[in-house]
Amino acid sequence: MANEAAQNVMIVGNELALVWPDGKEAYIPLEALRRACPCALCKGERDIMGNLYKGPDRPYTPLSFQVVAHRRVGGYALQIDWADRHNDGIYSWDNLKEIAAGS
Ligand SMILES: [Zn+2]
Repeated sequence: MANEAAQNVMIVGNELALVWPDGKEAYIPLEALRRACPCALCKGERDIMGNLYKGPDRPYTPLSFQVVAHRRVGGYALQIDWADRHNDGIYSWDNLKEIAAGS
């Protein structure tokens, strides 16, 4: 049952709340979620030679840790619109599980 979609996704205070199909709940602080953004700009991208390209670290602002909207992407992931207009990160459900376990 890899990458199972959450049944329910909500923003509760400053956390992302997830309800998994087995009824277990997970809460991820929005700041931890943003810092784990999987997009190429935040994480960097490797070329065919294995060189890592990463944009300069941009300072986060309080808006960076506020969620404007979130939506499901094709059943396999969740996309988050951050208040500082960053929304390139697509979080797979497995990725969200890992972030939740690590926070
Ligand atoms: Zn990002």
